[in-house]
Amino acid sequence: APITTDMKTLTQEIEKFAKDKKIEIDTLKIREEYRKDFLGNVSHELKTPLFTVQGYLETLLDGAMDDKNIRKKYISRANKAVDRLIYIVKDLDLITKLEAGELNVDPEQFNIIELIGNVFDLLEMKAAKKKIVLTFDMDYNEPVYVKADREKIQQVLTNLLVNSIKYGYENGTTEVSVENLIRNKVIVRVTDNGEGIPKAHIPRLFERFYRVDKSGSRTEGGSGLGLAIVKHIVEAHNEKIYVESSEGVGSEFSFTLEKAEDLENAQS
Ligand code: ADP
Repeated sequence: APITTDMKTLTQEIEKFAKDKKIEIDTLKIREEYRKDFLGNVSHELKTPLFTVQGYLETLLDGAMDDKNIRKKYISRANKAVDRLIYIVKDLDLITKLEAGELNVDPEQFNIIELIGNVFDLLEMKAAKKKIVLTFDMDYNEPVYVKADREKIQQVLTNLLVNSIKYGYENGTTEVSVENLIRNKVIVRVTDNGEGIPKAHIPRLFERFYRVDKSGSRTEGGSGLGLAIVKHIVEAHNEKIYVESSEGVGSEFSFTLEKAEDLENAQS
C-alpha cells in the first residue's frame, strides 16, 4: 500500500539524514519529539493574543467603528494584544538561542546595586498599578561589584521582578537583597509576599511554558518562558538559581554571582 511505501521512504530518508549528520537515530527521535512539543506550545501561546486582535478588529468592522469612544477603546486593546505578541516572540527568540547555546556570556565588571536600581526604575509604574512597593534591603550608596554579563543579568532581574509583581498581592512588597556568600560569591534574592507556589509545582517551574495556573497567568500576559530564560542565563554563568515558596505566603527566588574581587580591592 502507498502508506507503507511512504513510511519506508521516510524512514530511509531519516536514516540517511542521521548518517550524514552523524547523529544517533535515538537522538534524532528525541529531537523530533522536542521540536513537535515546542511548536505545539508556541502556536498555543500565540493563539490567545491573535484571537484577541481578531476579535476587536471584527467587532470594529461590524459597526463598532462608528462610535468614537468604543473605537478608541477597542483599538487600544488590540494594540495591547499586539504588544503581547511582540513580547512572546522576543522571548521565543531568546529561549531558542539560549537552548541552542548560541548566546554567549559576555562578562564585565559592574555594580549590581546600580543595576537593581535601574530595573526598579523601569518597573516602578507596573508595581504601582498593583500598589506593590519595591524595596531594597541594602545601602544604595555601597557598591557591590560583580563579574557577569550585565545585559543578561538585567533580564534575569527583570523577569524575577515582573513575576513578583504579577503573582504578588495588591499592597504587597517585593524586596531585593544582595548578600556575601562564601568565597568570591554573592547571592541576589528577590522576595515577594504574594500568592506563592504549591510544592508539587516547584520541580517543574523552570521548564519552558510551564505554569502553575494555566488560566490565571495567561490573562496576566506572560509567555511561560520567563523562568526558563532565567535558569538558562544563570546556568550559562555557571551559577545557581534557587526557589523557596509557600502557598499564600510568598516566594523567594535567588541566584549567585561571582564577585569582582580585584575591583573591590582597588576601590578600598
Ligand atoms: P509566566 O509567563 O507564566 O509568568 P514564568 O516562566 O515566568 O512564566 O513562570 C512560570 C510560572 O511560575 C508562572 O506561571 C507562575 O505560576 C509561577 N511563578 C513564577 N514566579 C512566581 C512568583 N513570584 N510567585 C508565584 N508564582 C510564580
